[in-house]
Amino acid sequence: MQDRQFGRICFVYGENGGKYPFNHSLYLKGDKASVIIDPACSQEKLARLKDEGVDWVWLSHWHEDHIRYLNLFENCPLWMSGRDFPPLTDIRIFLDWYGLESPDQRGYWEKIMIEEFNYQPISQARFLADNETIDLGGLSVQIIATPGHTPGHLSFFFPEEELLFLGDYDLTSFGPWYGDVASSIEETIASIRKLKAIPARRWVAAHNSGLYEENPGSLWDAYENIVYERENKLLSFLEPPKTLGEICSAWLIYGKPREPKEFFEFNEKVLIGKHLDYLLRQGRIMKQDNRYARV
Ligand SMILES: [Zn+2]
Repeated sequence: MQDRQFGRICFVYGENGGKYPFNHSLYLKGDKASVIIDPACSQEKLARLKDEGVDWVWLSHWHEDHIRYLNLFENCPLWMSGRDFPPLTDIRIFLDWYGLESPDQRGYWEKIMIEEFNYQPISQARFLADNETIDLGGLSVQIIATPGHTPGHLSFFFPEEELLFLGDYDLTSFGPWYGDVASSIEETIASIRKLKAIPARRWVAAHNSGLYEENPGSLWDAYENIVYERENKLLSFLEPPKTLGEICSAWLIYGKPREPKEFFEFNEKVLIGKHLDYLLRQGRIMKQDNRYARV
């Protein structure tokens, strides 16, 4: 797919089809200011846009596959949710927010963050608020708080073009991510429903297919249903009761072991952990002698 122009908004198609570790970005050209949203699509494209003019950088959230080339814009003010700012101020907070504990894991990720994702600590940002409308000059933007994926995840609605930027509620067949320390299954579900209800004509997700020029329709429910499918698989697997290790080695989320092992084993474990916490809170399972059992 190629970059596409909608009025003053450019959909900038990402490398690797917008799949991790890249994304699709948006470039906004208002009369008053030009903005790049989520600068992780392609170093070459972003360097060109920088020459064309970028006044501000906005982020949907703090994840590395959305800040990969933020370093190109070090002189541009950064705008994002205050709730997602702490991990960008210090690599140790970044690693804490992913729940990385062992020195080996922290060392592995710190190196990747600096070498591949160009991580540099940032000392200040302007915080965007839910429901705030910003006039860029001939183009306005409504800020929509969509927590869950991360606590400060933001989506953006452009009324003139009836275009909705979904960020990482990306409607992929893998389903939503809510594996960080501060992610929330409940908030993820509420945010998917909030986005679905917005009357847009075009939808942009930060990854994979990216641009939808017709209502994604059943994709919305399919995406939300993956949460319940994961939960049902887990509940069936807890008959008889299992330890966390036994659950994780069944690959209920990813279906099978994937490479790089360090990355996917960790992801499987944190997503399963979120579901176990959620089911424990609801009183639908219990933990006895290190085993999880259905109630
Ligand atoms: Zn993300």
